[in-house]
Amino acid sequence: MTSLRRYDHVPEAMLKATSIELDQLLGGPALFYLDGTRKPPLFITVLQHGNEPTGFEAIQQILQKYHAAGLPRAVWLFVANVSAAAEGKRMLDSQSDYNRAWPGTADTATAEAALMQEVVDTVTAGPLFASVDLHNNTGSNPHYGCVNELAPQYLQLATLFARTVVYFKQPVGVQSLAMARHCPAVTLECGQAGEHAALSHAVDFLDACLHLHHLPDQQVAPHDISILRTVAVAKMRPGVTYGFDDESLDVRFRGDLDKLNFGPIAAGETLADLNDDRGMPIIVSNDDGEDISAALFEAADGKLTLRQPLTPSMATLDVGVIRQDCLFYIMEHMSLPDGGD
Ligand SMILES: [Zn+2]
Repeated sequence: MTSLRRYDHVPEAMLKATSIELDQLLGGPALFYLDGTRKPPLFITVLQHGNEPTGFEAIQQILQKYHAAGLPRAVWLFVANVSAAAEGKRMLDSQSDYNRAWPGTADTATAEAALMQEVVDTVTAGPLFASVDLHNNTGSNPHYGCVNELAPQYLQLATLFARTVVYFKQPVGVQSLAMARHCPAVTLECGQAGEHAALSHAVDFLDACLHLHHLPDQQVAPHDISILRTVAVAKMRPGVTYGFDDESLDVRFRGDLDKLNFGPIAAGETLADLNDDRGMPIIVSNDDGEDISAALFEAADGKLTLRQPLTPSMATLDVGVIRQDCLFYIMEHMSLPDGGD
């Protein structure tokens, strides 16, 4: 069941609950309207992926902090995949990925797509200040924000969190891509779950957002931002077995794969050992959906190597995440637009 629960206050028990306990406490995905001094509200989304609790823990600290005095700005809070959170998973096997189900998704027939449509219809019925969707990742990555528009307010919001900003238009169905049509929107990648630095950074960001009078509409200074664009996504070819150390697997990736995030990696470097020469074990799709793996990689002599330098992001040592999401994204530096578009 994914029908949306609505609240106009935070249950006392939620101020102390862990993300694992929310399913029992809330009974399903929940949307809160929490009044505050400034309007319009900031839209905050947490726990789209059940094993990424930092966003929830951060808003919990904010709610504790302003419990008595009231929030500095009104908030729409969407506590998303609580049933996956109860099991400590990104999503349940029976679910589609919440963060591929927002308006614009290719698959509108799912229960998750109906849920996200209801959330968007509700929060966009009035004006919004901005939208922030908080995530963790599983590999070693810098903290960064993702935007889907390059207009000044979007980049101002993202650089309030970090100097590194990723711009993307694929995959579709992502929260910030849907919300970018309505207000400045950012997806935050806060580092790994359980890290103190991840949580304190997210708390500081939310607190700063709630106190902002407005988002500046002049463009971010070039030295204050490093923007990369996603140009392709690498996934495993179906039927190929893969991992990190088991000799019997078709593909064994190097153990420091996630340390290569935001590289660049030089041409000629080896990413994986291959058990045989059955051909390219990965599919690299560009924004047009074309397989460009042969242009970027070579699978020969028992090795997967790079034909040209490239910069990955979101590479992880978690085989489950590789299966459910991807091996990594391929990035390219881009220059800052002058005035937005
Ligand atoms: Zn996530």
